[in-house]
Amino acid sequence: MPVAESVSRYISTLFAKEDEALTRARLDSPRLGLPAISVSAEEGRFLQVLVQAVQTRQAVEIGTLGGFSGIWIARGLLPGGKLYTLDIDAKHAQVARTHFEAAGVGDRVEIWVGNAHANLPQLEARRPFDFVFIDAEKEGYLRYFEWAVINLRPGGIVAAHNALRGGKVVNPAGDANSALMDAFNRRVAADPRVVSTIFPAGDGMLVAAKAG
Ligand code: SAH
Ligand code: MG
Repeated sequence: MPVAESVSRYISTLFAKEDEALTRARLDSPRLGLPAISVSAEEGRFLQVLVQAVQTRQAVEIGTLGGFSGIWIARGLLPGGKLYTLDIDAKHAQVARTHFEAAGVGDRVEIWVGNAHANLPQLEARRPFDFVFIDAEKEGYLRYFEWAVINLRPGGIVAAHNALRGGKVVNPAGDANSALMDAFNRRVAADPRVVSTIFPAGDGMLVAAKAG
């Protein structure tokens, strides 16, 4: 089950305080007609901690939306580091661009517009990557994960959002995306190339570290 709201608020108040740019990025999405499906602040902070822990020069995000999670990731990069963030929707990319600029990370973020499945092979030219965050269509997760494991440096991390689907992965019958996510979680859990788990904040963050 996702953690209680009071616990979530406790964590975010202490550790994941939003500045004005982050709050705007989170609130702007629904206001501008984008879906309100950003990561939570504590999940964002968790991403930033991971990015910083593995000393990330190059990060990839699949699923930009309005840039909320991307700002957290970009703020964890080493000086001179880069985030490549991919989204199929040009409007999302345009909104995200303004949020990256407002957050002071515009120079560190490249937005690649188009189907990530088509763009990832091009992005390979910039490998290796230290960190990959998967947060796009659930049908694509297994392929995105495969790409990440191949293109990460040893010791690099791949994170994937919505691993718990509000708790529905425990009994996914009748919900296609939850069934997909359950299958994804089982595949990653059994993958000998990574050490992995699910961190149960927000909607669940699967984290997998590539063996060194
Ligand atoms: N990471 C964001 C939320 C991403 S929502 C945050 O937490 O702030 C999922 C995004 O994935 C949407 O913006 C959607 O347009 C994008 N998406 C869906 N399918 C895609 C695909 N095949 N390639 C690239 N992006 C895709
Ligand atoms: Mg998500």
